[in-house]
Parts: sequence; C-alpha cells; structure tokens
Amino acid sequence: MGVKQITYKEALEEIYRGLSDEEFQRGLRIGVGNAEGKFLKILEAHPELRELAALVEDAKKKVIANLEHYIDMAMESLRKVHAKPYFAHTAEEAREIVLKIVGRGKTIVFSKSMVAEEIGLQHFLEESGNEVWETDTGEFLIRLAGSKPMHTTAPAIHLSRQKAIELLRKKLGIKLPDNAMHEEIVGAIRRFLREKFAKADIGISGGNALAADTGSIVLVENEGNIRLVTGYPPVHIAVISVEKLFPSLQIALAAAIVQAAWAGLYPPTYLNVISGPSSTSDIERKRVYGAHGPQEVHVVLVDNGRVAASKHPVLSGQLKCIKCGRCQWECPVWQQTANLWGGPVYGGPMGMGWTAITLGIKEAAELSMLCLGCGRCDEVCPVHVPLSSIIHWLKQQYTGEGEKE
Ligand code: SF4
Repeated sequence: MGVKQITYKEALEEIYRGLSDEEFQRGLRIGVGNAEGKFLKILEAHPELRELAALVEDAKKKVIANLEHYIDMAMESLRKVHAKPYFAHTAEEAREIVLKIVGRGKTIVFSKSMVAEEIGLQHFLEESGNEVWETDTGEFLIRLAGSKPMHTTAPAIHLSRQKAIELLRKKLGIKLPDNAMHEEIVGAIRRFLREKFAKADIGISGGNALAADTGSIVLVENEGNIRLVTGYPPVHIAVISVEKLFPSLQIALAAAIVQAAWAGLYPPTYLNVISGPSSTSDIERKRVYGAHGPQEVHVVLVDNGRVAASKHPVLSGQLKCIKCGRCQWECPVWQQTANLWGGPVYGGPMGMGWTAITLGIKEAAELSMLCLGCGRCDEVCPVHVPLSSIIHWLKQQYTGEGEKE
C-alpha cells in the first residue's frame, strides 16, 4: 500500500488531461506568474547566499561519499539527545515503523513532507484507522481536491482561489462567499485546524536537514504549522530521508536557509531546531522529559534507494538536491504540466532523478523523454545538481544508447 504507480501511457494521458484542463492551466499560470522574478530579487539583495549555497554543496558531496557513516553518526547523536532513531530500508518498512509507534484510533496532524508522500504515509495511516490532517495550507487543499502535490514547495500551485473556496464549501461545509479573498480563505482553514492541533495525539513532520553531529532536526517554514505539529502534541515523529543528513548543525541550518531562499521565501519566518524531546530541570535540577513540548521524539530515517544511489556514478548527483523546487519553476515543460510530468510524487527536472532513485530507472527513463533538453534547470540549481546529465543518461537508458544499467 504505497504510492500509486502508473504506466507511461497513463502518465501521458494525465499530462494531456492537465494540458486541456482550463482550470488547472489558469491556476498554474497565476501561480507561476506570481512567483516569477522573486528568486532573482532575493539573490540580488543577498549575494552572500550564493557563498552559503557553495558551503552546502561541499557538505553534501562529503555526506554522499560516505552516507552510511553519517547515518550511523546521526543514529548515535539522536540517542544522545533522548530521541528514538529508526532506520527504514524501504518505504514499506518506514510505514510499518511509524504505524507501530502510532497505533490505531489516533488523531494525527501532519506538516507537509515530500518523503511522507513518497512512502504513502498519510493514506496508510488513515487506512489503518487513524484520523489524519494535513496542516500546511497547500497540502490541506490538495488533500481536499484528491490531487497530488504539484510543486515541491508550492503543492497547490494549480488551484485557483475560486477552486479553494469551492473545496472548503463542498468538502467541509465551511461557509465562504463567492468573492472571498485569500485572507478569508486562509483564516477559515486556520480556524478549522486549530481544534485538530489541540486534540492531536501525534504530530508528524519531515525535516529540511538533520545534523549528524548533534541529532538536531532543522525545519524551515513561513506558516507556523510546523511549530504546532512538532511542539503541541505529546508525541512527535519526524520522517526524514537520509540525503537530508549534514555533518554539523551549523551546515544543516545553512541548508535550510538556502532551501528557503531558492524557494523564494527569504528571510523565512521560522527556523525550527529540535534536538530531542522537550524537557525541564527547573525543580531541584532534576531533568524531566516532556515539559510543554513533546515527551517523545521519534526519528525515522528513510533510505528507499538512496544508499544504493550514493554509489551510482550518475544518480549520486541527484542526492545533492535540497528540494527547493527552483528547477521546476524554470522548466518550460513543468510550467505547462506541473508535477503531472515526473512520476507519482516528484515532478519536473528534479523529479526524474528522484523517481529513478525511489521507484526505478525504467519508470523515470520513459518520462525523461519528454524533457526538451534546454538546460535551464542546471543554471538555477543552488547546489549544481547535474540535472541535464541525469536526464540525458535516463534517456539513454530508454533508447538503449550509452551504457545500460
Ligand atoms: S535539483 Fe536543484 S533546483 Fe531542483 S529542487 Fe533540487 S536543489 Fe532545487
């Protein structure tokens, strides 16, 4: 029970449906138009961010070259800060680990996580008898729409304001006028989710970075939902893919800042650091775990093809990706199809490599043939993921040219 795999033919049909869906195209056009220009303005105002990105890229190379070492180091550091670490080789193993911690009949609040999408965690926990609520505004809306995330950091990019109003009315009975503006829509979602946060037994987050030296989870956001998901319920579970590891807390913080900047969100409103469960030693200097924040912090490290990819001459390059989504905004194919092109979870230029790593080379190779080969993605990536080379290699796997896997 993971993510739904589809054939190439089905993927093409989905793309054609998206291309002729006026509402989808209108939403996408408005979203892309509003995002345009933001990125360059940030870098013009803060040129020092490029130096930070270079440091992040160097650290990434170091971790990829020795991934298993950093996994061991992180597991040890997590134990030291009283978090409980787990290692999942596959998506299925990760789901089972989380289910064992969660159990059944619980209320769970989620903050947007691509790896949770990758392993099909939300649906799995729901089908296992839990009440699951996404709390990121975009993710919340796409769940109501029954859609998948259409961008790494802007999952509801294809949904217009009118569509959001319609979904809230139809699916949740929330009263909103036809002309409700963005502020009213966001306010309605906020009011609806407050009660879910308050009654949640468990909060599940991803992680933008994980510091191997301190076992600290770093999460960057603007909405404030991650603070509530990771700070309010008594139990916090972080599901983090292993390429998010960094040698030190300093560089993990830098990675989160770079991700926010290249996602067009700089300065980020919140930068969260979580090093184990909340605690106090205010009474007789005796340390007690579980003060105002969670009493338990569980960290599930997900491999799902990444360790093998770290030894692969081509696919290892994709592991440098910090999932900022910048390459997607730049891609002329993605601008028409959003994440309908790329695979069941990841889409656009970065989606090819991630689909190859997490699902299989064959699945990605067919889809890579739709790439125009313009190379715009290479130009904008903060950590120089060799996107064009990866896609070119995938095309060769499809056509039988070059070295076959
Ligand atoms: S490949 Fe580069 S630009 Fe694309 S999401 Fe990853 S880090 Fe960002």
